[in-house]
Amino acid sequence: MTVHNNILRIAVPSPLYRSFDYLLPTGVEPHALQAGVRVRVPFGRRTVIGVLLDITTESAVAIDKLKPALAVLDSEPVLNSDILSMVQWASDYYHHPIGDALTAALPVLLRRGEAPEAGGIPAWRLTAAGRKIDSATLARAPRQQTVIATLHGQPPGVARNTLDTSATVLRTLAEKGWIESFHLTPGSDIGTTTPSPHTLNPAQQHAVDAILKQYGQFSPFLLEGVTGSGKTEVYLTLVEHALARQQQALVLVPEIGLTPQLVDRFRQRFPVPLAVLHSGLSERERLTAWQLARTGTAPVIIGTRSAIFTPLPRPGLILVDEEHDASLKQQDGFRYSARDLAIWRARQLDIPVVLGSATPSLESLLNVEQKRYQRLDLPERTGVARPPAFRLVDIREQRLEDGLSTALLKRIQEHLDAAGQVLLFLNRRGFAPTLMCYGCDWVAECRRCDARMTWHQHDGRLHCHHCGSQRPVDSVCPSCQGTDLHPVGQGTERVEQALATHFPGVEHIRIDRDTTRRKGELDRLLGQARSGTSRILLGTQMLAKGHHFPNVTLVGILDADHGLFSTDFRASERMAQLIVQVAGRAGRHERPGEVLIQTCHPEHPLLQLLITQGYPAFARAALTERRTAQMPPVTSMALLRAEAPAADTAMGFLASIQQRIRATGLPGVDVWGPVPATMERRAGRFRAQLMLQSAQRGDLQRLLSTLVRQLEHTKEARQVRWSVDVDPVDTY
Ligand code: ADP
Ligand code: ZN
Ligand code: ZN
Repeated sequence: MTVHNNILRIAVPSPLYRSFDYLLPTGVEPHALQAGVRVRVPFGRRTVIGVLLDITTESAVAIDKLKPALAVLDSEPVLNSDILSMVQWASDYYHHPIGDALTAALPVLLRRGEAPEAGGIPAWRLTAAGRKIDSATLARAPRQQTVIATLHGQPPGVARNTLDTSATVLRTLAEKGWIESFHLTPGSDIGTTTPSPHTLNPAQQHAVDAILKQYGQFSPFLLEGVTGSGKTEVYLTLVEHALARQQQALVLVPEIGLTPQLVDRFRQRFPVPLAVLHSGLSERERLTAWQLARTGTAPVIIGTRSAIFTPLPRPGLILVDEEHDASLKQQDGFRYSARDLAIWRARQLDIPVVLGSATPSLESLLNVEQKRYQRLDLPERTGVARPPAFRLVDIREQRLEDGLSTALLKRIQEHLDAAGQVLLFLNRRGFAPTLMCYGCDWVAECRRCDARMTWHQHDGRLHCHHCGSQRPVDSVCPSCQGTDLHPVGQGTERVEQALATHFPGVEHIRIDRDTTRRKGELDRLLGQARSGTSRILLGTQMLAKGHHFPNVTLVGILDADHGLFSTDFRASERMAQLIVQVAGRAGRHERPGEVLIQTCHPEHPLLQLLITQGYPAFARAALTERRTAQMPPVTSMALLRAEAPAADTAMGFLASIQQRIRATGLPGVDVWGPVPATMERRAGRFRAQLMLQSAQRGDLQRLLSTLVRQLEHTKEARQVRWSVDVDPVDTY
């Protein structure tokens, strides 16, 4: 034990569940230091960058063992106290090492020691002459055209690092006198808004009023609005109010929900710098967006889950769109839920938080039931749009042609004849999910996973969608040497071919991960889908969520059965949400929509409930089921996962933990398993899991705290890769 004036408690990126103590670096004044600055420290044989948590006077380490830190990198904290305390809480709650968790909260360039820019963010904007230039006239200089068009779209200017162009192009335009460089700084213009083209309808107005009544204090809301009911319009109105108070609004969206269309709506409404944070950014762009937020230059921050860690000097409001979406939960490393952290942060900041969805999670619905969240309802679509009509197509008795039933083919033709647009949803890319030998029933499997290989026609290879490995398509059966090999089942590639045969001359597009790999391609295809020039839209969930395609009149769901019989207890909830989301693409305008669902289980009670009475009735029934089965959200759950290169190691490790838990006899926690994962082998590693469940969150938390501290020091734990997942969204 050491007592000393200035001991720096530092979170160091490492898998260890603790912080580390250092002495003040020479020449640094302690009063110049604040928690949240980065500090370079010796760690083992390396030098690493950590974050200062605290300055204390005591250490459990002897004074002669304490090393001095090497350098303090910041004069002001890069993470303010609000973020620091949130990450510390999350590190406890999700049982993830603090150093690693804090690192995850920092933009990569800051983790590497780069300095955040001081004194404004370099940016470009149009000059008075530039504002008169119509970008359409620059067709012969496409790179200049892009810049001018972008700047036209964002009058307050665009940060240099987020302008995707070269220095030469910028110089040329500057020499013409059309653009000028300047520094974006926190300005007084952040309250600027463009009036909404719509007058809110009564339900929207009621929601806005209810939320604004609680403005300036912590109050969580669940905004439940059917697709197309005007939720986004409610968000925009709320953000407008935050801006009018010179405050910032943080808008979290799922990975797939962050479409250029959504960002454009915010841009049009708020001609102020926006900070947009998503996984497609370069590290440089990410740092710039983060800085725009942290300095208060950007009053509106839109981002995917990690945007929850953005420091905000003037926070006023947090919005979480599509709050049910699984991508708001980080699935590896630091496994946090951005939605749940949003609630935590709003409480800490004493501001309102709005969770929006057409298909709320059962977690949030339970919170409403328990009066923790206030529910606001948008029961109807805006304008003249009506909810679509559902029909189940029993595919047990119908002949399917490449996954398309006769009934569906007929309706597609009728909608096309009536000048409608058709959207077909199949959540499986590639040509066929299986390659099979008709001689001996052999199927092509991945050599590293317990999974089948998907046949992709575009490159004529077999791909594993789980580990990414690929190989040429077998021409001879490796089992019987026969040549009677056939693709079995449908992926989007195959359905696309079938469409060309059945509807020759009808323009169609396919949107999945394979057709949208190139930058800008997704935007282009979505534009084509929206404009209606493509009459048939085919795609995976990339196409299914969030988009507004005004002309779609028919939605076909080619395979609804995936979620009905799965080992994951959340599968039916997921399926229902997806069906409602996809169906929500139909009839968003004057013309009524129709939804056809192909299934082998038309009598399935949850499916029946969903299509006859809608999502709220489905969700009530599903919640009752969870209550009976004592599953989340009624109880708390955590998974302890382990994986190892040999088959028995992971199972053996978890079995020993299970015994350890039994021996300590912690009350109130049920332990299930261990069981091998549904797909036990992935990328050559064998995976297993132990499920821990408790009626009291506190009991589970206490058990996990003890457990991770023990595991850190056990030998067996070094033979496996183990992790804790609190409130898991995937339980296989
Ligand atoms: P959601 O986010 O719930 O899917 P949106 O906010 O995107 O719904 O609204 C759906 C469509 O209705 C959009 O085209 C939007 O511009 C329009 N809209 C929203 N609110 C109104 C309103 N009060 N009056 C008329 N149209 C509206
Ligand atoms: Zn064979
Ligand atoms: Zn594989």
